[in-house]
Amino acid sequence: MDALYLGDPYMNEFEAELVSVDGREVVLDKTAFYPEGGGQPCDTGTISCGGMTFRVVSVRKNGGIIIHELGEENSAGELKLIIGQRIKGKIDWERRCKLMRMHTAAHLLASLFHSRDGALITGNQLNLERSRIDFSLEGFDREKIDARIAEANGLIQKNLPVKFYWLDREEALKTPELFKLAAGFKHAMEKIRIVEIEGIDRQADGGTHVSSLGEIGKIEFLKAENKGKSNRRVYFTVK
Ligand SMILES: [Zn+2]
Repeated sequence: MDALYLGDPYMNEFEAELVSVDGREVVLDKTAFYPEGGGQPCDTGTISCGGMTFRVVSVRKNGGIIIHELGEENSAGELKLIIGQRIKGKIDWERRCKLMRMHTAAHLLASLFHSRDGALITGNQLNLERSRIDFSLEGFDREKIDARIAEANGLIQKNLPVKFYWLDREEALKTPELFKLAAGFKHAMEKIRIVEIEGIDRQADGGTHVSSLGEIGKIEFLKAENKGKSNRRVYFTVK
């Protein structure tokens, strides 16, 4: 698999071949860099080869191809030198780790808002300092939000395992629950990747997650906003 982060979200270093360079944009034959998507920001880090180190400042997916954008420290000529060579990629691990904790926390909260209150999840955006979940439910008050966050923190203390696996598309589509967070999920894929918080939640998901709830630490409420009559936006962070 060329998207190494899907099979091993804890891979923070890897080797690959540099396939092409277009300006500052680089394609590798495989990568552990997570491209922005599904509400999870991209990874940053470095690519090094032959004594040179290039900063990876952003990563995105375009038509199934993962594109690494390099910083401006190195000349285009230097970049051309390493086409076809083996490179070493290194992910900025503190950043990725925080985003993994935020991502699993978002699944946990969304799952509780959904299963306990019947809320429809309409969006989510993760970030390093604060993340948010949008959901649709009338009369959703602060007390309820606090209760769900407290429940989530209780589950974190139980340190439930978080695992992932692939399901055949046909099978996955029979369970709409799997897609509650996945607006715009690519249903055309043959195999759907499922992220499961054991006994609590299963989601179709292409993001990176911690392997057990304990790694999240503690979820803290930051603020809630009303976005129209029945739309709520909850901001949280992990400590
Ligand atoms: Zn997700």
